[in-house]
Amino acid sequence: MTLTLYNTLTRRKEPFRPLDPNNVRMYVCGPTVYDYAHIGNARPVIVFDVLFRLLRHIYGPEHVTYARNITDVDDKINARAAEEGISIRELTERTTRQFHEDIAALGVLPPTIEPRATDHIEDMKRLIERLVEKGCAYVAQDHVLFDVGAMPDYGRLSNRSLEEMEAGARVEVAPYKKGPMDFVLWKPSKPGEPSWPSPCGITTPGRPGWHIECSAMAAKHLGEVFDIHGGGIDLVFPHHENEIAQSRCAHGTPIMAQVWMHNGFLQVEGEKMSKSLGNFITIHELLETDKFGGRSWPGEVLRFNMLRTHYRQPIDWTVEGLEQSLTILDSWFPFASEYSDADQKKAEPVIEALCDDLNTPKAIAELHRLHDAGERGALGFALSLLGFSGESLKRERERVEKRRQELAAIVEPRISARLAARKAKNFAEADRIRDELAAMGIQLKDSKDPVTGEIVTTWEIKR
Ligand code: AMP
Ligand code: ZN
Repeated sequence: MTLTLYNTLTRRKEPFRPLDPNNVRMYVCGPTVYDYAHIGNARPVIVFDVLFRLLRHIYGPEHVTYARNITDVDDKINARAAEEGISIRELTERTTRQFHEDIAALGVLPPTIEPRATDHIEDMKRLIERLVEKGCAYVAQDHVLFDVGAMPDYGRLSNRSLEEMEAGARVEVAPYKKGPMDFVLWKPSKPGEPSWPSPCGITTPGRPGWHIECSAMAAKHLGEVFDIHGGGIDLVFPHHENEIAQSRCAHGTPIMAQVWMHNGFLQVEGEKMSKSLGNFITIHELLETDKFGGRSWPGEVLRFNMLRTHYRQPIDWTVEGLEQSLTILDSWFPFASEYSDADQKKAEPVIEALCDDLNTPKAIAELHRLHDAGERGALGFALSLLGFSGESLKRERERVEKRRQELAAIVEPRISARLAARKAKNFAEADRIRDELAAMGIQLKDSKDPVTGEIVTTWEIKR
């Protein structure tokens, strides 16, 4: 079976041929750690986790290297640490821990390597010095800038020409830049900001620009040229365009990565997610609070809901979608079972769908088919391949059952009291009890026992 992947660089689906099948290498831009990750940030994490699992399945787990970085030096980090009155290290370590907890709940495997930007400052400085030596970068007013004019096909990834970009450069261009599109590799730090001794003979201490971080970490851990580079669609320009320019110029290579993959954006209930619209939602809030849809959601429901849309399409994140995802997983899980080699064979169409540019909606359609055909083992295998263990659903079922038992102790005596009140024609009291339970989120349902003709009351938890 051939794996085909859509390559942003060539704008078409291509058969994937690793540079070295014994070491398939993938880099994905990770989070900037200053706050809880939002559900949009979860999209690349989940999508590339599925690809990581697929590559491990095809090439063998020991033959895939996946690097996803942590950006722990950034203006937003500085501002937030100052706001909270804590050190940058405290903020970035806390946020990294929260990120790890959140995505573990989503069934995401740890990447092979998770490099932190601040552990690679020396690598960045070496890369910057090499770019200056090669004439691709220059020093100006304590900054080091990349000269985009030195890169003949700058703009190839984002499919725009340098002339177009320069003509469209509206923002006031810093006076020390040779060209309006030149970008920062290194900049001086203001007092109080994190700083390191600068490269290229600059005497003021400074810090790296964002783009150079990924070029340095990718080269260090995956080599000068590697197989797959991923991230959200918003990173195509300028971040990935600039990574390519830096890496290719520094290493003198025709490419940085063979395949460039980008996930589409996530919006919430039809609107762009933003703090001002009040629809901004973090992974943590979905897992632990009732902020979205009046209840918390098992991590696997979030993961499944993400995969119901193809990764290159925009996704609309809705309560209705989560409810459907929960219902589907709930019907699959008690049914899916341990699997044999024969079961794995029966799940082949699922792998085929994933090999078609990670077509997860098609893979999910195949899972439905396996379920409907009574293929318990094949379904079990396919679910585990996609990163579903059923653990969070099991915990959810246990939680619901426990809550039901706790409530039963309160609800059942009141139901008896209500029936007694009715028998005594004290309807006001009966209604009061019903309303009181409704306020607790308990809905009563009366029905007549067909044999005895007596009223029987059942109850359910509405929220
Ligand atoms: P950031 O921390 O903003 O650098 O983003 C981390 C990753 O999340 C990047 O790959 C972004 O492209 C991705 N991302 C951010 N917002 C969204 C969104 N609304 N939908 C999908 N991906 C997103
Ligand atoms: Zn990056």
